[in-house]
Amino acid sequence: MRLSFWGVRGSIPSPHPDTRRYGGHTPALELRAANQVVLLDAGTGLAPLGQKLHAEPLIPGLTAHLFFSHYHWDHVQGLPHFAPLSAAGNKFTVYGPAPQGTPGGLPGIVDTLLGVPFTSPQSGARSGLDFEEIAPDSEISLGELRVCARRANHPGGALAYRFEHDGSVLVYAPDHEPGNAELDLGLRQLARGAQLLVCDAQLLPAEQSPGSGHGTWESAVALAGDAGVRNLVLFHHAPERSDHALDQITLSARRLFPRTWAAHEGMHFDLAADTVHLWECRGRDAQRMPVPLPVLVESGQHTAPLRHEARLHNLSFHGAYFVSPLQYDLDDRLELVLDLETGGDAYGDPTLSSLRLQGQVMRVEPLTTNGGWVGVGVRFVEPRRTDAAALPGSDKATDA
Ligand SMILES: [Zn+2]
Repeated sequence: MRLSFWGVRGSIPSPHPDTRRYGGHTPALELRAANQVVLLDAGTGLAPLGQKLHAEPLIPGLTAHLFFSHYHWDHVQGLPHFAPLSAAGNKFTVYGPAPQGTPGGLPGIVDTLLGVPFTSPQSGARSGLDFEEIAPDSEISLGELRVCARRANHPGGALAYRFEHDGSVLVYAPDHEPGNAELDLGLRQLARGAQLLVCDAQLLPAEQSPGSGHGTWESAVALAGDAGVRNLVLFHHAPERSDHALDQITLSARRLFPRTWAAHEGMHFDLAADTVHLWECRGRDAQRMPVPLPVLVESGQHTAPLRHEARLHNLSFHGAYFVSPLQYDLDDRLELVLDLETGGDAYGDPTLSSLRLQGQVMRVEPLTTNGGWVGVGVRFVEPRRTDAAALPGSDKATDA
């Protein structure tokens, strides 16, 4: 299974300089599993996901399954802007809970979202749409992909979903307020043994109040621990939560549940029966300078520091990108060491300066052209410093 995040924010879209790193789009996820294309919720992140899918050369067309957790604005607002809907050869099956107080049911909800006055009149072709309302505790099969649903505790009702294929398990619980014993038990059962749990963590513990419909990072950690999941992704971030605040929340959660991640746009997880791999495509903003030089990489997460040679690709004020035969995890801390030959010391002999750049892994991606190597993007976390060192074999440094 491959899971990709296109929208991670709750309630309303939140474009702002302070939310740029994690992203401001509301929930939309893409799951590729068992030769199926599955879309989870239709928040504003569905628009860029649609652009990507629209560009894929699929013949005769795209066949995909869209699962709504519920129909609050943050989970439906991207649907009218989902470009593949306007292609005649595409086919979608739309799933979701039976909506409360809507006589037309799920088809009526979608018709309303795609009609006047909420959006411009549709002209031209339209994809084929089928609908299937999902009852809580039900199971369906999409080929070899098995899907189970459970009720979550959210105003107006919502579902959480479990996807299983070939021994790997993903659970998606985007909107859930803990505190209802029956529904909490249902979610623990749904999440049991999952490799990856994507869970509502919108609120800080101090912000929690009965009826909010949302959980906290602490309740997400508790669910992950109780259900024996292997990796937790904090999701549905509050619109006002800054990138810095989400960094701090991630650190707090990791003290209790080390394999915790905060969802951000561009994050991918590859799930297999015995492994979960993270990929990252979050870019650096500053201008990059090509610097094709050998670089020594020291990783500090091991008891004995691991050093290996890699190849620096580019450098900016905020970070670097290098290619490496070794694998890294998102958020690993490391140090890049560049040996620079300078013009010469007071005696006219060349000296070496070692430029040490401390950073945090923000992006890991496989390289198709270099078997087994990965490209690694690093964000610098401390000011750069330069340590002067004598050239090997030179005694001039002490000859003062
Ligand atoms: Zn929501």
